[in-house]
Amino acid sequence: MSSLPSDAPHSIAEYFHGYEEDGKIRGFRCRSCGLATATWGLACSRCGAIGLEEIDLPTRGKVLAYTILHVPGDEFLNDAPYAYVVVELDGGGRVTGWMPTVKQESDLAIGDAVRFAPSYKPGVQFVKDSEGARSG
Ligand SMILES: [Zn+2]
Repeated sequence: MSSLPSDAPHSIAEYFHGYEEDGKIRGFRCRSCGLATATWGLACSRCGAIGLEEIDLPTRGKVLAYTILHVPGDEFLNDAPYAYVVVELDGGGRVTGWMPTVKQESDLAIGDAVRFAPSYKPGVQFVKDSEGARSG
């Protein structure tokens, strides 16, 4: 039986704390297949291998897909509507995130350049590369 890597975050809270602390997207790379992801997990979501190493992901990328959510989870009640996005990061790796400044479909387009905007809220918040950072 494989053991968990000693350098894995001890809790989800500790992992998310990293978002706001240093302005980086904390991510993980599978030691087996090389998949890069921002989603914390005990095992690789692609090949199932245990042993993800922690990495810093690029903070810029392009929108691959998105949808506008009008019905949010509790933690985003004051932000709806907003966009739920899949972003292909520069240099590889896809992450899912959200964009509070996108209120309707015409506010965003596939291929738009976006960048990570650290937030106290859960998840990975992005803004359009041309926008200023939103505080909080
Ligand atoms: Zn893998």
